[in-house]
Amino acid sequence: MTEIDSNAPVLVTGGSGYLASWIVRYLLEDGRTVRATVRNPRKPKGLEHLHVLAEEHPGRLTLHAADLLAEGSFTEAMDGCELVIHTASPFLMGKLDDPQEQLIRPALEGTRNVLNSVNAIDSVKRVVLTSSVAAIHGDNIDMRGKDCFTDADWNTTSSASHQEYSYSKTVAEKEAWRMCEAQDRWDLVTVHPGLVLGPSLTTSSASGSMTTIGHFTDGSMILGAPALEIGLVDVRDAARTHIVAGFTPAAHGRYIANAETVSLLDIGTTLRGAFGKRWTFPTRELPKPLIKIGAPIGGLTRKFVDLNVGWPLCFDNSRTRRELGMEFRDTKTTIVDHFQQMIDDGIVT
Ligand code: NAP
Repeated sequence: MTEIDSNAPVLVTGGSGYLASWIVRYLLEDGRTVRATVRNPRKPKGLEHLHVLAEEHPGRLTLHAADLLAEGSFTEAMDGCELVIHTASPFLMGKLDDPQEQLIRPALEGTRNVLNSVNAIDSVKRVVLTSSVAAIHGDNIDMRGKDCFTDADWNTTSSASHQEYSYSKTVAEKEAWRMCEAQDRWDLVTVHPGLVLGPSLTTSSASGSMTTIGHFTDGSMILGAPALEIGLVDVRDAARTHIVAGFTPAAHGRYIANAETVSLLDIGTTLRGAFGKRWTFPTRELPKPLIKIGAPIGGLTRKFVDLNVGWPLCFDNSRTRRELGMEFRDTKTTIVDHFQQMIDDGIVT
């Protein structure tokens, strides 16, 4: 049982990110004091929403410079915190020039770096780490022989050259558990969101959450969508899960934060229902052989298509609902709210 003093400041790493911004906002609305780390607290763009939150909650939000790859850079901001919510990690989709440097090293070394600071700062009692369903499964074909993935499952199929983002999340989470088990002062709770969608507090995030929905309007699915299922969760629910996981004394282990799985066609159907025919939302699924031929043009590998398209997917969130009392929004609301925000922000016209 870990009791967190509700008056102690909470450290949120990567505080300006898409998901973390909602965590920061909810913590402030709950009356907590928050220290948010960002790479560059003086950057002129991308922190506006945090400055507004700081003004709305005087004296309760401060920004601190820290880089995942700069050893010891989180230590000072952590001093006096009992709860550390570590979200910072790159979530980049599509073909990358150097996945090792762009994804894997910041995720793994960054987690090690943050937890070395936790080891050095006596006040910390609990770390909540943003992991992902990507650390639970690699490809959808991993469902073979299962009804549903649970928090007991680990991704055993991703590597530095296949599903690199999933690999980055898996090795980072494994390192976190290793470091946690090597000591007995602080405990670790991990949160595993599916694809996070829903309204963004920032227009500056490079998150894959932003690029994914872009593919529904850029013409790439004009002929049809791949029969691909994904786990989906609302950004507001994913953020709230982190906070409840942090402040529930008995919380332990891995918590899946996923509302349900939907297909790309389901998303297209929801978007078309809400926003009409103005955009090229898909209206049907294309046969897998066709998808496979066109895969490289769409930035996918043929191996990805083989191992993911056409396979059902399921994540069991029952432990999260039962132990943390979380309820997850209907995914249609999430999808519509996400796209409406893109219109409001002028990202789609
Ligand atoms: P995001 O908006 O891109 O946020 C990522 C954050 O990581 C940014 O705030 C960025 O900070 C920080 N970061 C990246 N490289 C860094 C570095 N070298 N040093 C310090 N900070 C660094 O993405 P997000 O979608 O909110 O993702 C947040 C977390 O949720 C990640 O751990 C991601 O793996 C996880 N997650 C996301 C999803 C999803 O669908 N979005 C699903 C499951 C899990 P700066 O702004 O300071 O550069």
